[in-house]
Amino acid sequence: MTPELDDLYQEVILDHNRRPRNFRALGGGRRAEGFNPLCGDRITVFLTVDNGVIADVAFQGSGCAISKASASLMTESVKGRTVDEAQALFERFQQMITAPADAAVESLGKLTVLAGVRQFPVRVKCASLAWHTLRAAFDARDEVVSTE
Ligand code: ZN
Repeated sequence: MTPELDDLYQEVILDHNRRPRNFRALGGGRRAEGFNPLCGDRITVFLTVDNGVIADVAFQGSGCAISKASASLMTESVKGRTVDEAQALFERFQQMITAPADAAVESLGKLTVLAGVRQFPVRVKCASLAWHTLRAAFDARDEVVSTE
C-alpha cells in the first residue's frame, strides 16, 4: 500500500470493516436504501425511533472498506441520541470529510478516524453514504409488518 492509503485505512477502519458493528436487519421500524454509483457501495439502514430518540439503528449491505466502516461507526455514534443530535453530527461529519486536506481536524470522537478521507475526494461519497441513508430513514414511514 502507498503511504497515503496506509493513512486512510487506519487500524480502526480496518477493524470496523472486518467486524462491522450493528450489522443486521431490524424489523418493525423505518428503513432506507442508499447507493453510491461511483464505487458500487450499497447499504440499507434500519432505524427505530422512540420519542425522538434513536432507540436502535443497524445496517446491511456491501461495499468498500470505507463505506462499511463509516456505516459501522455511524451506528455506534448515533444510537441513543435524538434525531436532531444525529442530524447535527452528520453536518459536522460532512464538514470534516470535505474540509481542505491541511485544515485542522475537529474531534468527533471515533468518527475522527475518517478525517483522512478528505485527501481522497472520490472517497467522500463512500464515507457519507451511510449518513445520507440514515437521513432518508428519518423521513421514511414506519415499516408495516407484512406476513409475506
Ligand atoms: Zn466505496
